[in-house]
Amino acid sequence: MNGDGPVNAAIMLVGEAPGAQEDESGKPFVGRAGKFLESVLVDNGVNRESVFITNVVRCRPPGNRRPDDDEIKSCMPCLSEELKKVRPKIVVALGFVAIKAITGSSEKLGEIIGREIDVNFNGMKLKVVPCYHPSAAMRNRKMKRKFEDAVRKALSLSRA
Ligand code: URA
Repeated sequence: MNGDGPVNAAIMLVGEAPGAQEDESGKPFVGRAGKFLESVLVDNGVNRESVFITNVVRCRPPGNRRPDDDEIKSCMPCLSEELKKVRPKIVVALGFVAIKAITGSSEKLGEIIGREIDVNFNGMKLKVVPCYHPSAAMRNRKMKRKFEDAVRKALSLSRA
């Protein structure tokens, strides 16, 4: 499944892999986590249609398990292509898999969420804001607050 959104988007949000509903619809983040993500964007004055949303891994891993290193590696060219096409001002990495795939960092999430990280990704200079994954953030009040703060920061950086 490819990403969804305008090629002139200033912000690209990158998740882990499609879930069941995404698999069915062919669109990223249309299930519960997607609705939550969309509500946080809308609360901050941004429509889903104005951002580019995609995933690191393009096929749903069986049984909803976390994608393995080979799956991540084999899907990286797709993400690279989308980044080249969109050239977003800000990349929001949603959850550990996206953060690690894009920044290379395996730091504890609590330590890097909401930071602004400069990354050289296959020769492309990216500004990345790591965020919790929306499916985790929507279940935990503290994470939800940090998630909202990080999204707000990313949005304001994308407008700067
Ligand atoms: N979780 C993800 O990481 N991506 C989706 O598209 C849906 C749920």
